[in-house]
Amino acid sequence: MRLILQLMLLVTLRLPLLSASQTMPPEADKQLALSIYKQIIEIKSGFTTGATTPVAEAMADRLRTAGFPASDIYLGGAIPKKFNLVVRYHGSGAAKPILLLAHTDVVEAKPEDWSMDPFTFVEKDGYFYGRGTADDKAQAAVWIANLIRYKREGFKPDRDIIVALTADEEGGGPYNGVEWLLKNHKDLIDAEYCLNEGGWGEMAHGKKISNDIQVSEKYVLNFRLEVHNKGGHSSMPVPDNAIYHLAGALDRMSRFAFPLKINDVTRVYFERMSKIQTGPIAAELAGVAQGSPDAMQRVAAASTAWNATLRTTCVATQLEGGHALNALPQLAAANVNCRVLPEDSVDFVHNSLKKVVADDQVDVKLLSQFVQSPPSPLRPDVLKAINRVTDSLWPSVPSVPMMVMGATDGRYLRAQNIPTYGVQGFFMDTDDMRMHGRDERMSVQAFYEGQTFLYELVKILAKPTA
Ligand SMILES: [Zn+2]
Repeated sequence: MRLILQLMLLVTLRLPLLSASQTMPPEADKQLALSIYKQIIEIKSGFTTGATTPVAEAMADRLRTAGFPASDIYLGGAIPKKFNLVVRYHGSGAAKPILLLAHTDVVEAKPEDWSMDPFTFVEKDGYFYGRGTADDKAQAAVWIANLIRYKREGFKPDRDIIVALTADEEGGGPYNGVEWLLKNHKDLIDAEYCLNEGGWGEMAHGKKISNDIQVSEKYVLNFRLEVHNKGGHSSMPVPDNAIYHLAGALDRMSRFAFPLKINDVTRVYFERMSKIQTGPIAAELAGVAQGSPDAMQRVAAASTAWNATLRTTCVATQLEGGHALNALPQLAAANVNCRVLPEDSVDFVHNSLKKVVADDQVDVKLLSQFVQSPPSPLRPDVLKAINRVTDSLWPSVPSVPMMVMGATDGRYLRAQNIPTYGVQGFFMDTDDMRMHGRDERMSVQAFYEGQTFLYELVKILAKPTA
C-alpha cells in the first residue's frame, strides 16, 4: 500500500522537460544511431548459428574512434564467437554506477520465411526492417550512440555509466554474456541498478497507450510427466494402459488453475491500467488492485494476458508415447511448461502438480529451471525519472510498472542484487508484435523517439545529486 501512495505522488510531481518538437534527436545523432543500427542488424548474430563477437568488435571500434580510451573498453566472453562488450564512461564517483544493458544475439531468421532478407537493413513505409530491429539491437545501437553523444557534449555524470552489450540472451545457455560476466568479471558490470529490455511502449491503432517498465518477471519450470508400463499385445488390452494414465493426468491438469494472486508490482500495474481502460472493465481492474477475489476471477477470465499476470500457469507442450501400432504402450510422456509467479516456489508448483495428477503411475519430474529472481524494488528515483521523461515527450501517456511473462537477462542481475528495469520508450503496436517472428520491424519514429527518451532518462539518472 505504501508503494501505491508513493507512486501516486510521483504521478502528480511530473514536470515538463522538453517541448514536443524535441522528441527527435539532433540530425547528427540520428545519423549516428542509424548507421550503428544498420551495421549491427547486418551482422549475423543468430543465437544458434551466429556470432556476437563481430558486433562487440564493431562497437569497440566506434567507441575508440569517438575517443574512449582502450582501457575503458572490455571485450571477452565464454567462447571466441560469443564475446561481450563492456564500456565505462566515467563520472565523478559521487554515486554507484548504472548499467545499461542490451543483448546482441538474435533469434534465428530464415530468408525463405521472410518477405525480404532478414539480415539486410531496409527502411520502407516508415519502418526499419531486419532481424533484431526490435529485439534487441535498437536498444544496443541507442546505448552506444547516446554514450558517444554524452562524451562529445562533455556531459559530467555523478556516477559511471556502463554499457554492456552481451551474448546469448535468446534461450540462455552456457554462453550467456550476463551470467558469464557476473561470474568472471562482476567488477566490470557491478552497478546500483540496471536498465534493460523487457518494457516498451504500447500502442493500439497508432495511439500511444502506456510506456511500460518491466520490474519483475515470471520464471520458467519444465516438468516431464512419464508413465512406464510392461505393455503387451494390443489384441488383449488391459485397463492399466500408459497412455490412459497420462491422458487422465493431463485431463485433470487442463481443468486445474493455480490460485489468483496479486503482488506489489501487479497491484500498481492494475491500478494504472484501471485509469487507462474505459468502460466497466476499468472498475474491475481497480477491484483487482484492491485485492477483490471476485474481480480477480472476472479479470482473469476476460483476458489470457491478465490471467497470466494473476497466477502461475502450467500447460502441456509436448507429447510422446507408444512404440508400435499393435502393442500396448510401454511409455507415455508429456512436457509441461510452467510460468511461475516470482513469489511461488518450485516446491509449491511441483507439489501442486503431483496433487492434481493424483496417480502413482505418473511420475512428475522437474526437468529444468530458469534462474528465479526477486522483483526489482519500485525505486522512487527511477520511476520518477521515467515518469518525468515520459510525460515530457508524450503528455498524458502513463508509465506502467509490469511483471512480464517472458524472461530476460534481468533475472541474473536481480538474483545478484542488481535491480533491473526494462524500459525502452520504443512504441510498438500491441496487435502487431514481430519480435522473434517474420519481417521484424521498428517504426522509424519509434526508434528516434526511443533514442531521445533513453538519452534524457539516463542523463537524469546519472545525476542523482542534481
Ligand atoms: Zn530480447
